[in-house]
Amino acid sequence: MQFKLDNDEVISLEIVRKPNMKHIYLRVTPKGVVVSANRRAKLSEIETFVVSKSAWIRKHLQVQAIQNEKRLIKSDNSLYFKGESFLLDCQEQEELRHITLEIVEKSFNIIMPPETEQDTLERVIDTFYKEEAIRTITPMVELWSEKMQLFPSNIGFRRAKRQWGSCSSQNSLSFNFYLMKLPLPIIEYVVVHELSHIKEKNHSQKFWALVEKFLPNYRELTEELREFERVL
Ligand SMILES: [Zn+2]
Repeated sequence: MQFKLDNDEVISLEIVRKPNMKHIYLRVTPKGVVVSANRRAKLSEIETFVVSKSAWIRKHLQVQAIQNEKRLIKSDNSLYFKGESFLLDCQEQEELRHITLEIVEKSFNIIMPPETEQDTLERVIDTFYKEEAIRTITPMVELWSEKMQLFPSNIGFRRAKRQWGSCSSQNSLSFNFYLMKLPLPIIEYVVVHELSHIKEKNHSQKFWALVEKFLPNYRELTEELREFERVL
């Protein structure tokens, strides 16, 4: 719904009803402002609450707008690849049918038809990361499988928001193809982590001992991974 803040600024507001919620909660997401409230909370109550938080909302919408802008696939923004930041260089070319993407030194050069949508560009970038992941991570898994004598039933690649990898009860491994944004030693850590789950399903002491046996510096690598998560 459309909603007016205390300075008459119009924002889009989404109200999510949750059964066992005591208070009203507010958050700003890339798509707008979301309020969570109990089913019984009156609309007028929610509105009063949101208006009272106008300054906070304005501040966070601004921060969000800057972040959204940085995430756009356009010239002078950047993307991580194998742990390094690459500058985007997007050139429009008339009468072009397909988008081409190539890495030249430290930049992603994209040649595209005029007015190409962001969604289309994102798909091209995702395909790039996925192909790179298949090419880089598959042999890495094979190598570590031999070393650790732990063999997955399958290896898959998909896009995920938070999870870097997973191991199913059938020992099928799945990797987030955005791993290709990270340095190779960290990717290697994720591979060893998931392979270790073939033997130890939980994050028990035995599990970490197994990871440490093959990667004695795994603690530093997890620290580095957390740091990357903050900037990606
Ligand atoms: Zn795990």
